[in-house]
Amino acid sequence: MKPFANIPSQIPRSGIREIMDLAWAVEKEKPVIHLEVGQPDFATPEHIVDATCRYVREGHTKYVPNAGVNPLRQAAARYFQERSGIETTSENILVTPGAVMSIASAFFSLLEPGDEVLLPDPGWPNYNMAASLIHAKPVFYDLRADNQFLPDLDQIDRLVTPRTKLLLLCTPSNPTGQVYDAEVMRGLMQLANRHDLWVLSDEIYADITFGDGHVSALQHDTDGRTLIVSGMSKSYAMTGYRVGFTRGPLDYIELASKLQEPFVSCGTGFSQLASAEALDGAQDCVVEMRDAYAQRMQIALDILRQYDLYRYSPGGAIYLLIDIAASGLNSHDFATRLLQEKGVAVAPGSTFGAMCADHVRISIAASEDHIRQGVTGICEMVRALEAA
Ligand code: PLP
Repeated sequence: MKPFANIPSQIPRSGIREIMDLAWAVEKEKPVIHLEVGQPDFATPEHIVDATCRYVREGHTKYVPNAGVNPLRQAAARYFQERSGIETTSENILVTPGAVMSIASAFFSLLEPGDEVLLPDPGWPNYNMAASLIHAKPVFYDLRADNQFLPDLDQIDRLVTPRTKLLLLCTPSNPTGQVYDAEVMRGLMQLANRHDLWVLSDEIYADITFGDGHVSALQHDTDGRTLIVSGMSKSYAMTGYRVGFTRGPLDYIELASKLQEPFVSCGTGFSQLASAEALDGAQDCVVEMRDAYAQRMQIALDILRQYDLYRYSPGGAIYLLIDIAASGLNSHDFATRLLQEKGVAVAPGSTFGAMCADHVRISIAASEDHIRQGVTGICEMVRALEAA
């Protein structure tokens, strides 16, 4: 048999999946506290579930337009316009099956093989995977722990070459939880202008911020070079609905809509219609979940302080990086040992990049009790290994 294609064969196995598999094996013998998964632990709000069932019963179970159903394109346009103050119409919106597809379509629509894309390190591994699928070259910019995981504009400036075409941003960030303020965002957008780069800003956690509100790249875009990615998965606990969207210039949306055809044709009609209702309806559920995440984050940070392992306070999202350097183990070995000895599953930092290879990522999409026990377990293990 002739071999499989090179590129998909080379995609590395996700370090999070590896820990999840191990956690399921350990769970056969003892209970495991799951802090590795980036999925809201809340049920999808009832009014959204009700709307979904209604749309299924009404027969919205067929193909829909490539770019998504109109009610959702309109609702998403209102969502972006209200938050950014920048005029947005339904034609600026492409609906995709999950934000992950919005990101992949942007890479396919913008990058030629050999083009360079600036990606954050640490960052969500799927960006790198998508770049590799089209032979684009990922160039990583640092989000260093000693800079509070914020970008260093001078370094990004130095990384730009004539082949650089796209700057990818993620705020609030997976895995750091950090949020870029207006000054950082302005600087990044000025840099993109100066070098004539497209900007792909992954803002899927925009509604989950704990202090100052979210600043969108769109607010600092002076000439329509920005694609904003968001979706329903995180703020509305709708990961299984597979609804994401991109807000972009009209010619981009037209092009990327065509790209849906060979990959997915279109998304799911009843998911999209229920999403439109979620965006247009009462937002109490979003606020309640966000407040619960904020409270859980405080619990985690207080425990880190007790063990002198506090380093920074994430401004949003559902993640926190914990510094395990004092343990003397790399993050993969630490995560494996933590799972076996303490029954706590976390994501090794190395999964997200070299910059946090001495950290582990916890997700606060877990009960307060589990966060308390899990973070205490991490701190105890760091200090015990340090003393050994
Ligand atoms: N962007 C980031 C930063 C994420 O963490 C995730 C999911 O974990 C996504 C995008 C994908 O979301 P979706 O479920 O809409 O594909």
